Parts: sequence; C-alpha cells; structure tokens
Amino acid sequence: MLLIDIALDHEHCEGSKCGGCAYVCPTNVFSIKKDKISINSPQYCKLCYNCLEICPKAVINIKTHNAIPAYY
Ligand code: SF4
Ligand code: SF4
Repeated sequence: MLLIDIALDHEHCEGSKCGGCAYVCPTNVFSIKKDKISINSPQYCKLCYNCLEICPKAVINIKTHNAIPAYY
C-alpha cells in the first residue's frame, strides 16, 4: 500500500491570496480555512502533481512511501 505525505510550508505560502493548489486539485486534498491552506485528505491524492506545477512559491512537498505490513 502506498502512503502519501503532503507537507506545506505555511510561512511562505500565499494562503487565500493564491489558493492555486486548492483550485487545481481534482480530489480536494486542500481547502482554504480563513487565510490558510489546510491539507485535509492526503489519502485521496492521485499524484497528478497539478498542485506542484501551479504553486508560485514551490512550498508543497509530496512524499510517497510503501507501508510495511504490521504482520504477514
Ligand atoms: S498531486 Fe494532484 S491530487 Fe495530489 S494533492 Fe496535488 S493536485 Fe491534489
Ligand atoms: S499554490 Fe502554493 S502558494 Fe498558492 S496557496 Fe497553494 S501552497 Fe500556497
């Protein structure tokens, strides 16, 4: 199973002034709460990388890793 971690550097993100990531994400991983972007549901990420392409500040970081089963 592939796990997806999405991190966002809020210090450099333009928040609601931009909102590009929330606009282009096909699965609504991001939402705008007050002035900030929040990452609601990284498990629904389709790895389309639209958000990385549109982000003017390059503050989104997506990492994937395989989950190790707890037992076999
Ligand atoms: S890679 Fe695509 S699906 Fe994943 S968070 Fe970014 S825009 Fe959404
Ligand atoms: S596209 Fe980048 S700068 Fe714009 S709101 Fe999303 S994370 Fe912030």
